Amino acid sequence: MKKLASELYDLLQIIAPSGKEERVVRYIKPKMEKWLDHVWIDHYGNLLGERQCGTGNGPTILLSAHMDSVDGVEPYREVRREEDVFYSSAGILGADDRAGMAIVMAVIRQIGATKFNGKLKVAFTREEEIGRRGSQALDPAWLHDVELAIVVDRRGNRDIVTSFADVQPFCHPAVGQFFEEAGRICGMPDWKSVRGGISDACTFASYGINSVNLSAGYRYEHTWDEFVSITSCKETVQLIVTALDMVGKRGMKLQNFCSLTGSVI
Ligand SMILES: [Zn+2]
Repeated sequence: MKKLASELYDLLQIIAPSGKEERVVRYIKPKMEKWLDHVWIDHYGNLLGERQCGTGNGPTILLSAHMDSVDGVEPYREVRREEDVFYSSAGILGADDRAGMAIVMAVIRQIGATKFNGKLKVAFTREEEIGRRGSQALDPAWLHDVELAIVVDRRGNRDIVTSFADVQPFCHPAVGQFFEEAGRICGMPDWKSVRGGISDACTFASYGINSVNLSAGYRYEHTWDEFVSITSCKETVQLIVTALDMVGKRGMKLQNFCSLTGSVI
């Protein structure tokens, strides 16, 4: 997983506020192409990909993070590393949400070693920070077969965000419990379902897709105190890989609890 830290460092170097995500696309697209069957840019500039895993007959799962950061990256700042942590010498770091992207990339590299059997979809979205414009511009037809959306854009570690405050549920409670179980299985029993803020999970859930927003390891986002823990990023990779492995081993079980969604959201 050394790769995760070096890729995260590269992503943090790129200045790409909302609306100016092209440099992120240019950096990450060739890397996605190595691991996914198809990678393309949609009409809005979102970067999308797909990969069939195993026979492809199982569920379709979406992994998502946003490419933009809020304004406030100082052009001459340095990204510094101190032991487990990246921080910025001045201004915001922008680990919200490059950390989410690095985590998704690490999962993609490990998916072949799991029992997951189905279709993996990846969405790196634009303009999340200015009203989720990128995710809302995604083609609903591309999302229609997605049974579970895993967004990685929550501060801190070991949070499974299952609703926006008490305003909008993202998923059936069983989905949060499923991720808590995945945490227990991989030795992190304190992954917990919590309420959270606005993220692209709001968009996916609005289509009736079971969605969660997982911790991406950054803290104090949007401020000069922002930092990101590499260990926390790796823990989230571990959780997602374990969850995908469980889906592969249990097959229909995920589809069963996904079928409950319609009456809940
Ligand atoms: Zn974010």
